[in-house]
Amino acid sequence: MGELTNCLKCNAVFVKTTQDICPDCVRKEEKAFQKVYRFLSKRENREATIAEIVKATEVEEELIIKFIRTNRLQRSRFPKLAYPCENCGVDIVSGKLCEECSNEILTKFEQAEKIAEKEKQQRKKEKKIDTYYSIDKKNL
Ligand SMILES: [Zn+2]
Ligand SMILES: [Zn+2]
Repeated sequence: MGELTNCLKCNAVFVKTTQDICPDCVRKEEKAFQKVYRFLSKRENREATIAEIVKATEVEEELIIKFIRTNRLQRSRFPKLAYPCENCGVDIVSGKLCEECSNEILTKFEQAEKIAEKEKQQRKKEKKIDTYYSIDKKNL
């Protein structure tokens, strides 16, 4: 028996596969992909931007970005396929964030880790003081 799960897109219940969307939505996505691909295959559309593709094919931008991220639409073939960084909106061609934002987030993450480590040390110290204090009390 397959495990049941909810489709991320339409919320329908379906037997879990390698996809996180139901077969219906997979079919719809496939159709959308073919549409986008056909559009881009025309010589005059090869350098189309995402906005132009959305306009021409009526496929959602989100889906087109997914095709690029999953490498179904290859950047090497379609040079203008870029999408906005999730943080600052600058054009990027891979991942979710531009280089600058991912560096920034990494730095923030490292700083947060350092702070957490410091707090841990601090708590340890306080605990030690507490222990000493209670021992002292006992000895009195
Ligand atoms: Zn679905
Ligand atoms: Zn960015």
